[in-house]
Amino acid sequence: MAVDTQGETPAAEPPLIGHFIDGDTYRDPGARLAEVFDPATGEACARVALADLTTTEAAIAAAAAAWPAWAAVTPLNRARVLFRFKALCEQHAEDLSALITREHGKTLADAAGELARGLEVVEFACGIPHLLKGEFSRDVGRAVDAWSETAPLGVVAGITPFNFPAMVPLWMFPIALACGNTFILKPSERDPSAALRMAQLLTQAGLPDGVFNVVNGDKETVEVLLRDPRVEAVSFVGSTPVAQSVYRTGCAHGKRVQALGGAKNHMVVLPDADLEQAVGALMGAAYGSAGERCMAISVAVCVGENTADRLVDALAPRVRALKIGDGRQPGTEMGPLISREHLQRVSAYVASGVAEGAELVVDGREANVAGGGFFLGGCLFDHVQPRMKIYREEIFGPVLAVVRVADLDSACRLINGHEYGNGTAIFTRDGAAARRFTRAIEVGMVGINVPIPVPMAFHSFGGWKRSLFGPLHIHGPDGVRFYTRLKTITARWPDGQGAGTEFTLPVMR
Ligand code: NAD
Repeated sequence: MAVDTQGETPAAEPPLIGHFIDGDTYRDPGARLAEVFDPATGEACARVALADLTTTEAAIAAAAAAWPAWAAVTPLNRARVLFRFKALCEQHAEDLSALITREHGKTLADAAGELARGLEVVEFACGIPHLLKGEFSRDVGRAVDAWSETAPLGVVAGITPFNFPAMVPLWMFPIALACGNTFILKPSERDPSAALRMAQLLTQAGLPDGVFNVVNGDKETVEVLLRDPRVEAVSFVGSTPVAQSVYRTGCAHGKRVQALGGAKNHMVVLPDADLEQAVGALMGAAYGSAGERCMAISVAVCVGENTADRLVDALAPRVRALKIGDGRQPGTEMGPLISREHLQRVSAYVASGVAEGAELVVDGREANVAGGGFFLGGCLFDHVQPRMKIYREEIFGPVLAVVRVADLDSACRLINGHEYGNGTAIFTRDGAAARRFTRAIEVGMVGINVPIPVPMAFHSFGGWKRSLFGPLHIHGPDGVRFYTRLKTITARWPDGQGAGTEFTLPVMR
């Protein structure tokens, strides 16, 4: 038992976070627990249960039992539950944002922003009666009609990362539920509370018990979801090594899988770019949310030495002046990293950049932030070479690398040579150059003078290469495709029936 700071009275243990199964909060009888930290103070603020086989199977059983009735609810009525859910999320936006900030560390404004972006997917899913209309062809042959319709898959699961505890789950479950599936969410064990709060709000919105379940857990929990034959499909978002392994295991067990992985996003700055605009964009895109965004810009590719010199001169004082602190304090621009281990990992990358010969223009390790939180200041490297580890690997922290290239073609070759292809951007006033860039670049999401080109909810989100495993992107039209299967029906009524038997493949006449 924990002891308070005076050492006299025993302090209360951090609260236990359980699961949400079959419409109810569920305390895990299992023994496996993990600590959840407030990254701004470095203190454990809760303990979370890590679901074992029995608990995970209970969630799967609840979702399987709830599925037939939920699939039979009309799309219009499924959408109405989501309309109410959205209103409730807006009503409780402040407490949801506070939960996100407490466990993740991002600023309250940023937490509110991720919730707002996630709710755009709910808005999209509210249009499900329209999205499920299918296609109809009259007279595909004499008196023969054909149409396609969609069917839900059944029980589907979502496994989500720590960096967007509300938005990434919201990329998945609104569309899955709207399509008539039941859902099991396995959020990150590092910030599990937002998921549980959303589960309660779904119930309050009228979602029947068992349709949406949350199991907290880790690798062991995920393995159960990937192997259980009752789970039809798995959406995963997280780091590339785990995404690849989830994809392989899920596919090997006959599931439909989409697995979004890591990133190394480059922003090209051409000599004609509005430098002030590019610097402002880079500050937010590289250091917002302490760089813990899959669409964060971590490499600035400057075309021409002069562009690089001017950019670094303008960036350095602004990186030094970043307001770092507790995300709950007004005026904070950048909060802490997620954990002590991650802070050590990112600091080790900074040391490796120095050791490999890059110029560390701003050393965030020197930032002195009060309290015991997991803080690292903004780091800025110049003269980074593609062979260096800080260029090749995803750091997922407030570290921006400046790479210098001679021309736009070299910039494209550099970006296309990287193993990741999530997002990229170009800053220029030259429309022809921007157009050439969008054609040549092998990356899933591209911005022109937009540093973080996260597609709106009615488009789909996803990278190329080792940033996404599986053919379909997430949310938008691909989300509907992922969570449904197609049935195509060809119909002829007796008055159009031909006489006799055909032994050749039927051909419409
Ligand atoms: P992570 O891969 O460590 O964890 C993601 C999820 O997988 C968590 O729920 C975790 O519990 C689970 N998990 C962890 N190890 C596992 C294993 N061995 N087997 C099965 N499941 C496992 O990722 P993270 O640290 O939570 O998130 C950061 C990563 O996510 C970064 O690489 C970032 O780029 C990526 N990300 C990608 C996108 C995208 O859209 N491409 C979006 C957000 C985050």
